[in-house]
Amino acid sequence: MANNKYGILIDYEYCTGCHSCEVACKKEHDLAEGQYGIQLTEIGPWKINDDKWEYTFMPVITKLCDLCAERTAMGKVPTCVHHCQAWCMYYGTVDELTEKMTGKTRAVLITPEQ
Ligand code: SF4
Ligand code: SF4
Repeated sequence: MANNKYGILIDYEYCTGCHSCEVACKKEHDLAEGQYGIQLTEIGPWKINDDKWEYTFMPVITKLCDLCAERTAMGKVPTCVHHCQAWCMYYGTVDELTEKMTGKTRAVLITPEQ
């Protein structure tokens, strides 16, 4: 059965930790200090072995996210997706995003309440 619920896919393998999504969301929704619709988390850096490091950036979407309802009603993509510097965020239906996830190993799909 088709799943036409909308969500956001973050392919965090390619997230550079630039904070643009976070800032864009705060501005769009005029959020108070300390509040975020999306907030960047950072893990590492630590050395795993001689060739490998753990250093991961992952933006977390919070309960304040309304999937940019006003923007999407006008046919625009959410502002976090629009401003992602690494083009690693996608907006679409669960079916579209699930297909896009195929073969990715470090990606998350979020479907905030709409
Ligand atoms: S979809 Fe809109 S409200 Fe949700 S995290 Fe992105 S910018 Fe913020
Ligand atoms: S805008 Fe894109 S690259 Fe920058 S922190 Fe957000 S998800 Fe990562």
